[in-house]
Amino acid sequence: MRLFRANEVAASVFDVDYGRLWSMGVRALLFDLDNTLGRRGSKSLGDGARELLHELEQRGFRVGILTNRKRRRADELAAELAREFTILDVARKPSRKGYASVLAQLGEAPATAAMIGDRRLTDILGANRSGIYSIRVRGFRKRIESR
Ligand SMILES: [Mg+2]
Repeated sequence: MRLFRANEVAASVFDVDYGRLWSMGVRALLFDLDNTLGRRGSKSLGDGARELLHELEQRGFRVGILTNRKRRRADELAAELAREFTILDVARKPSRKGYASVLAQLGEAPATAAMIGDRRLTDILGANRSGIYSIRVRGFRKRIESR
């Protein structure tokens, strides 16, 4: 099914060619949280993920995080991230509403956005249905020195 197929696939968030996305006109980057910016269910971002998001903002991208994780008292990560980034928890991906809501907060349109996530049935399907460029990552892995 075409709607489940990402426009491109990368090994991890550190392997996406963000410069090329910028040349394509992408200005907003939406990230999934679990298994994309860190390990599933983790209470912190994975090594290098926070630095990557800040680097991308320095380069001019608007950054948003869209997670289906539910905010709980015991889970402080979403609240902590909300102090630094635009984040929507309980996003109910693949519903289009969450994508539209985060893009509205970032002041960008689907045509100038890309979604980066590990799951076809949520991240990729929702992005494709929303007209957002979709990038599937195989999972979170630590940043590797360039070879
Ligand atoms: Mg995920």
